[in-house]
Amino acid sequence: MTDPTDEPTKTLPAAGLDRQALFERMEGFRRHDVDWRSGRALAYVFDPGEAAREVISRAYGMYLTENGLDPTAFPSLLTMEREVVSMSAHHLRAGPEVVGNFTSGGTESIILAVKAARDHARAKRGVDRGAIVLPTTAHAAFHKAAHYLELDKVMVEVDPETFRADPGAMRAAAEEVAPRCVMMVGSAVSYAHCVVDPIPSLAEICEAHGWWLHVDACMGGFLLPYFRRLGRQHPDFDFSVPGVSSISMDLHKYAFAAKGASVVLYRHKDLRRHQIFSCADWTGYTLSNATIQSSRSGGPIAAAWAVMHHFGDAGYLRIAESLLDATETVRAWVEAHPDLRNLGQTDMSHVTFASDTIDVFALVDAMNERGWYVQAQLSYGNSPANVHLALTPESLRHVPRLLEDFEACIDAVRDASPGPLVTMVDQLAGQVDLARVDDDTLRKMLAMAGAANGELDGPRADISRVLDRLPPSVRSRVLTEFMNESYRRV
Ligand SMILES: *Cc1c(COP(=O)(O)O)cnc(C)c1O
Repeated sequence: MTDPTDEPTKTLPAAGLDRQALFERMEGFRRHDVDWRSGRALAYVFDPGEAAREVISRAYGMYLTENGLDPTAFPSLLTMEREVVSMSAHHLRAGPEVVGNFTSGGTESIILAVKAARDHARAKRGVDRGAIVLPTTAHAAFHKAAHYLELDKVMVEVDPETFRADPGAMRAAAEEVAPRCVMMVGSAVSYAHCVVDPIPSLAEICEAHGWWLHVDACMGGFLLPYFRRLGRQHPDFDFSVPGVSSISMDLHKYAFAAKGASVVLYRHKDLRRHQIFSCADWTGYTLSNATIQSSRSGGPIAAAWAVMHHFGDAGYLRIAESLLDATETVRAWVEAHPDLRNLGQTDMSHVTFASDTIDVFALVDAMNERGWYVQAQLSYGNSPANVHLALTPESLRHVPRLLEDFEACIDAVRDASPGPLVTMVDQLAGQVDLARVDDDTLRKMLAMAGAANGELDGPRADISRVLDRLPPSVRSRVLTEFMNESYRRV
């Protein structure tokens, strides 16, 4: 990998730059960013359009500097947080006893729910080292939570046709660790395949055993109730299902809030208590934090409050209707396409498809060269490598072009062949157990892929193909190595 050199790296400018110069520099930095403003990015950015963007930006700016650290110092933030949490709870058919908090994102909501469940099990059942039962479709944030909080993971394969969690398999897996089971997880919807797990069945199992059921509704929580009102069927997943203990729901996805906005909700205060951390054991101010962050900008809370009031119920319903129509169009196109295979039957506004005839990684590259931003997902368990599209309000007007470009790219990549690195990895796989490949070989592979210094210089398709051939544990090592190079001195 790159060695530290003696070349000087960036320092503070000796004197401050004038505004024009500094903003010009920042505009320059943007040149290689995903062009979400075009409405052709089908991942990462959930753009609600210009009018809402203005509201969000003004509200965010208004509370940029207020500190959410201490709700007694800025009661306006407490008011907005309470209102955002209450609106969210109603949306998920919660009774009055449901409580929650505003967090910085799905990951924080999930880590907090897992921590609360762990400490609840410790307090009530004396569980020492807990285990968490996850379908393979559960978001990576649960793995991160288990890692941070020192919990064991029990992973359970999902149904190979529907990609929904399999309640029988979940029960059997949880029973194996019954005395230590601190949480079972279901998604509404899962990120990869956009389907709702059979939450009522999971809830019944959890209720019978006294296990905590967390529903990860980060992606689906906000829109699914509208899809239901528009006639789409999906399993119940919210607080109307007895046995659901906690729910995470992102507002910075399909509620279109600024990034840094999610809620975590609990059936009852007695569960949420285990989320809160207080400390009087130091010389400074007494500290009590409901969430992981301590000092935090009021911007995300204000922007979330503002966008929810900007759209209101009727506004969100209208958005959901247009998303539903467009999703149906894309889904029908995939189903009719001889080269493509729908993975799961999307319950919301993402479409995920695989192919038995063409290389999906080459397809993703070809599409992105045409100015789209679509995501490739690696194979895992019974889910093959695939293309993932998240439709957003601003993307809808481009759907006809999207499908035309897909048609053209599918033909263009029909004969795509992998580069030398992929061939090398295939040869290597014949000689050694890839799970045991050493760090040096990994570094050489990264270098060959044009990714040695934390930049992606080579074709992304080759990088994906190589990762796809590696066992997941090695994939993770490669990614860590890459990140460790990426965040470097400049
Ligand atoms: C996005 C997402 C998360 C993680 O949320 P972040 O906001 O990226 O931290 C968790 N679960 C699901 C289903 C998601 O879609």
